[in-house]
Amino acid sequence: MAVTKPSLGDHLKLAHRVNSIEVSLIVRLSETAAARKAAGEDVISLGTGEPDFGTPDFVLDAARAAMERGETRYTANTGTAALKTAIVANYRNKGIGIGPKNIIASAGAKQVLFNAFMATLDEGDEVVIPAPYWTSYVDMVSMCEGVPVTIPTSAREGFVVSPQALEQAITPRTKWVLLNSPSNPSGGAYDHDQLRALLPVFERQRHVGLMSDEIYEHLVYDDFSFVSALEALPELAERTLVVNGVSKAYAMTGWRLGYGIGPEVLIGAMAAVQGQATSAPSSISQAAAIGALEGPIAVLKERRADFERRRDLVVAGLNAIDGLVCSRPRGAFYAFPDCTGLLGRRAPGGRLITTDTELCEYFLDRAGVAVVPGVAFGAPGHFRLSYAYAQSALEQALERIAAASAALSSLT
Ligand code: PMP
Repeated sequence: MAVTKPSLGDHLKLAHRVNSIEVSLIVRLSETAAARKAAGEDVISLGTGEPDFGTPDFVLDAARAAMERGETRYTANTGTAALKTAIVANYRNKGIGIGPKNIIASAGAKQVLFNAFMATLDEGDEVVIPAPYWTSYVDMVSMCEGVPVTIPTSAREGFVVSPQALEQAITPRTKWVLLNSPSNPSGGAYDHDQLRALLPVFERQRHVGLMSDEIYEHLVYDDFSFVSALEALPELAERTLVVNGVSKAYAMTGWRLGYGIGPEVLIGAMAAVQGQATSAPSSISQAAAIGALEGPIAVLKERRADFERRRDLVVAGLNAIDGLVCSRPRGAFYAFPDCTGLLGRRAPGGRLITTDTELCEYFLDRAGVAVVPGVAFGAPGHFRLSYAYAQSALEQALERIAAASAALSSLT
């Protein structure tokens, strides 16, 4: 699938910066699936990473109350004192001591990451990113003139990077190591010991910071217990940025509210970027986030249990398909099966399927199911399926993927 970049004709040239970024494969596939659906085709789209639940009522109430109180003006650039108080209390409950000056609220976790790269990367600075990774990391780093350095991880290791592999990837130009636990797309997550094992690397490599994207912290399954980098590695607090937000756990993707927690100087630099680019996130969304953070924990538990049931359904369904192997994700709401067993086969009609992208196109054409190829996440030979959808849609999608897979010729 070739990417066509927009052109403005001969007079106004686009910046070289946009040539370094890709139109997200996820977005393109979702758009294709949506267009087919709109044209009346029966398409099940499991492409995007968004909970299907509604935002909880207590969050909606908090937002309504803020509007009625007239909280409709600009707030302080890094977020309201009340939101910071709620975040501080949340982290205190985890045994992590932070103050308001360690916090910046932004328009989603995405803007936190972008502010951080803008504030810290000079041209050629490197960011070490274990693969599979969330697509936007590499594009954001490139946009900020940095260089993404990716390290492969495997299902066998639980998609967790080893201290040796990490250290090998670090150079004098490395600014950050970016971990995402639980991970989009693999569902891999670092337990306490796996994080502690990385400490000697950071102790030797004192110029390197740790960026820890913990947006899926509440979506963990079985007896896995989530641990924040700030809790497991307090020694690194002066060079750690935790990225978090309310989008995923509280089904608030549209409210655009994320936050970063880090050392005061870094937060100050990120605040300078944000102050010139967008200013504070929406005042109403900040009030809604307070409602979320201070709300009843039972809702999170219920939703987590629901996701866990869907994960079990999807992982079992995928593993029952000859040619697919799916490990059991510890968290988030994605399955990331290895599909190399289906590559090199022919589709009915004779088309040879050699890559994960071709396989995903085949699933869309033949089965009407949209999933995202692993190459988009730096891990070809896989695909990502989001299970944040109704059980009936998941069951139907699994049946269709199974039938389409069975229709491929056996290996020659
Ligand atoms: N980090 C990861 C790993 C994500 O999957 C996402 C959303 N897809 C984000 C950050 C961005 O979250 P937000 O909607 O809060 O910007």
